[in-house]
Amino acid sequence: MTHFPQTYSRLSRRSLLGGILGVTGVSSFHGREASAGEAVASTGEKILLSENNLMDLQNSISGPVILPTSLIYNEARRLWNPAVDHHPAIIAQCQSLEDIQAAFQFARSHNILTAIRCGGHNYDGLGMADGGMTIDLSLFRGVEVDESNMVAYVKGGSILRNLDEATIPLGLATTAGVVSHTGVGGLATGIGQGRLARSLGYTIDNVRGVKILTPDGRHLRADATQNSDLYWGVRGGGSNFGIVTEFEIELYDFDPTVTSISYTFPISKAADVYKTLFELSEVVPNEMSLSGGVRTNGRGETNCSIGGNFAGPQAKAQRILDPYLKKLGAPLRTRINEVDYLWLQGIADGDLLAKSATYYQSGFFNHVDEKIADAVADYATKNTFPGSQVQFGHQAGKMANVAPDATAFPHRDTVFQFTTDVHWADSREGPANIKFANDTWAAVKPMSSGGFYVNLAFSPGEAEIREAYAGNYDRLVEVKNMYDPDNFMRLNVNIKPMA
Ligand SMILES: Cc1cc2nc3c(=O)[nH]c(=O)nc-3n(C[C@H](O)[C@H](O)[C@H](O)COP(=O)(O)OP(=O)(O)OC[C@H]3O[C@@H](n4cnc5c(N)ncnc54)[C@H](O)[C@@H]3O)c2cc1C
Repeated sequence: MTHFPQTYSRLSRRSLLGGILGVTGVSSFHGREASAGEAVASTGEKILLSENNLMDLQNSISGPVILPTSLIYNEARRLWNPAVDHHPAIIAQCQSLEDIQAAFQFARSHNILTAIRCGGHNYDGLGMADGGMTIDLSLFRGVEVDESNMVAYVKGGSILRNLDEATIPLGLATTAGVVSHTGVGGLATGIGQGRLARSLGYTIDNVRGVKILTPDGRHLRADATQNSDLYWGVRGGGSNFGIVTEFEIELYDFDPTVTSISYTFPISKAADVYKTLFELSEVVPNEMSLSGGVRTNGRGETNCSIGGNFAGPQAKAQRILDPYLKKLGAPLRTRINEVDYLWLQGIADGDLLAKSATYYQSGFFNHVDEKIADAVADYATKNTFPGSQVQFGHQAGKMANVAPDATAFPHRDTVFQFTTDVHWADSREGPANIKFANDTWAAVKPMSSGGFYVNLAFSPGEAEIREAYAGNYDRLVEVKNMYDPDNFMRLNVNIKPMA
């Protein structure tokens, strides 16, 4: 989480004008020097903002307005993935609902290309507008728990840790992601896959309602009975319809002592590891969530593993796993123990902002078999890129108990999600890493059931977006036509309105 000193939050006219006029340290964007008040419109052309325009913006919001000349500009524009190097013309850090409304109104009235930043974790940099305006919600965080109604009211800029820290100590939980500094805003409008998803469903399945600011300036409640089309679309359709200012998320009684599972095997076992994982998926209870595959660690050692978590005692987890894992022979390492769920939710955190660039490929499988295991192992064992992984993650369970057209996310028959992620610190290594991920995915894609997780996508084209939303795409276009016919909200996996 990035905090900025309050002293920056009200810029004097002089310092603000210094920013606008580019007196010092002006960063370049789109390969040029940024000039006074220059920004990119949502339609792509250049627009000029006057000093008075920018003063009006600063005067209308209580949080800081950060311009390219600001000393904190580079820190404020940094996203999780260092491969993204976007230079917005304006970053408006909003502290209140009124700030968000005023910033959105400003962006809309000047028709500036606008991004919404929550946790800043989108791999493709959708949380920062290159040349445009970023409405940064990272100062708009907080969670209120209503224990009697088993619901959490989550501000639209919150991160997962805010949600877990507010709920788990009360013996309550919901399902969200596996890294605590990921934003709720992007995750809960995508799908929201986490450690409890097999027993509780995706995060979107547990969003009871939202408050959302639509591009026409309305602040609407959307749930099963009010604005239900918007409620349907926002659960999977990202920021296509507006800015969610509050999520209302279902909570469950929860014992925070869970079993954490990790078995590591030599790389020679790769195909058998995938096969064993597929076999296990047929017998494990919904309280157990497993994934597995090949990983190369930071020292360049490649091995394979099966791991996950079980909302239950260690002895029971071992009784389920042992008969299957024993067939793989002696593991290189085993770690299976009871841990506190809140601790577990931070175990994969790593750096708050990644040091290495990241690229992903992902896809869904509604069946798995030995042929898929052999094909993926064939590629995955060629993996020598530090930090890279070729994984299958078990889905199904409660995630499959929802009809494909009940939310915008259609792939409810998925039994496994495939992901491969690659990482590099030296940009010269990027192309080879990306090629490895693309080739590995290409080897198994023909056997997949179509679609991919939109939150792991890199600039998908319209045909791919149609594939991601499958039978729900046309309805998403209808909802887009109703709430954002000008496609103002376009820095997302974009649903284009009908011309
Ligand atoms: C380290 C890491 C771990 C991850 N782990 C998981 C995981 O376990 N499970 C999982 O499902 N995904 C996971 N993801 C993927 C994650 O879902 C996406 O990266 C997601 O986009 C992050 O959301 P954010 O708010 O942090 O991103 P941002 O970059 O801030 O925003 C991403 C997108 O969400 C939109 N958005 C943000 N806030 C709002 C809002 N309030 N209203 C409307 N739209 C909004 C933005 O417009 C933008 O298009 C992970 C990503 C990273 C980097």
